[in-house]
Amino acid sequence: MSWETTNREKSACGCDLGYVLRETRSDDWNRTEENATLHCIECQTNFVAYSYDVHRSGMTESIQRWVRKDDYEVFERTKREGDTIEQKARTQLTEYLRTQYLDRWMSIFEEVPRNKKAVWTKLKQINMINISYSNYCKRTSDLEEDIVSYVSTYYVQPLFKVLIISSEPMIESINALPNEARQRHNEARVAMMKRSFS
Ligand SMILES: [Zn+2]
Repeated sequence: MSWETTNREKSACGCDLGYVLRETRSDDWNRTEENATLHCIECQTNFVAYSYDVHRSGMTESIQRWVRKDDYEVFERTKREGDTIEQKARTQLTEYLRTQYLDRWMSIFEEVPRNKKAVWTKLKQINMINISYSNYCKRTSDLEEDIVSYVSTYYVQPLFKVLIISSEPMIESINALPNEARQRHNEARVAMMKRSFS
């Protein structure tokens, strides 16, 4: 099997003193791969390669661009900050839900015998889970702990349906910070892409 260069293309770099060389290679099986190299000392100092995937009509294509190093640092930093803020908000929301709704939730299980079949049946019946009984058995060790675990960030929507809660302003306020952080990260990406080249 041999790879053959089928296309070679030069394009402008970020400062126009050098260029980007883009080579496409194909093998006997019609597989292709593209490789881009930056030929500019100035841009190599200031830019860093950044790749991301785009999905187009069922195909995943990897796109590579050069972005400013300082932009990339902001992009990565806002990502880390967002993750931390989101994690905190999740914990805070779960704590809030437990103080507000745990008693009401537990009362639903008052009459349910504490065996896996009975608890699984109840959970299924109120649409909290849709896993099979055998999978439920596999993942559940402590029944009491399992019942409590549904009062959490991850189950807010089905939980509120069961408890017939239509709105809860606290959730919006707890989610405000993560939403802002996500927004900052998105803006950092837009700014980074604006100053990038391919
Ligand atoms: Zn350059």
